Amino acid sequence: MNCKNCNKELILDFAASGLSCPGCGTFIPIAEVCPNYNQIRELEDIKKADILLSKEDIDLKQTGEAMMLYTNALRTSSLPEELKQLVQTRAKNGIDECKRLKLYISAKKSYSGGDTQRALQSFGKIRDYKDSSIYIEKCRTKLAKQTRQQLPLNAVIGLLMPVALLITLSAFKVKLLPCIIICLAVGAATEYFSVKGGFGKTVVIILTALFAFPFTLFAILTFLVHLSTLLSLLLAFIVPAAVLFALASLDK
Ligand SMILES: [Zn+2]
Repeated sequence: MNCKNCNKELILDFAASGLSCPGCGTFIPIAEVCPNYNQIRELEDIKKADILLSKEDIDLKQTGEAMMLYTNALRTSSLPEELKQLVQTRAKNGIDECKRLKLYISAKKSYSGGDTQRALQSFGKIRDYKDSSIYIEKCRTKLAKQTRQQLPLNAVIGLLMPVALLITLSAFKVKLLPCIIICLAVGAATEYFSVKGGFGKTVVIILTALFAFPFTLFAILTFLVHLSTLLSLLLAFIVPAAVLFALASLDK
């Protein structure tokens, strides 16, 4: 429905119970367009949803309720044609607002819960919404600080694998030059990923736990302690695996 004055599309203004023109400010009381507007479910739904959204401390559940009300209002049937368009536009905008608000609330939850990485991701999807951009900056600063604090530890984690490899290879009497080249190459990769953090670091830790320690232990047992290959295998791989398995089942 458009303004008779300037032909701009009118906006439903529930606070004032009317239609207002964003162009010239013309105001039409809703009762003029639709005398029985108080009995129209769609309008009631939008009104209720608006009230929910105006709450300062709105939570995820209430946002979900508001979204449902807007969705109901979108399925208009009983409305006169000129109001239908207005209500649908309003409901669609409301649904968009709810989607952003949901993301915003859970992003703030992640942030206060200490999951800065996740908070940053969520705020990034709604960077123009409310004070998201301020939170994005806060998250970045926090993450940078965390990275600096973890740097020495990550450097040590990255060293474990090449050192383990060095011990294993020299136990197997691999020549010095290839030994150094292999360890440098592996070391460069593990250092890179563990200092960079995130998923790569997790992979490095898992690989180190799974391979580096058993192999080193096997090499030490076989070549330094001079146990039989079978016994070394048993001690290096099967016993730790059995212990881990036992611990895991104890946990349950
Ligand atoms: Zn107008």
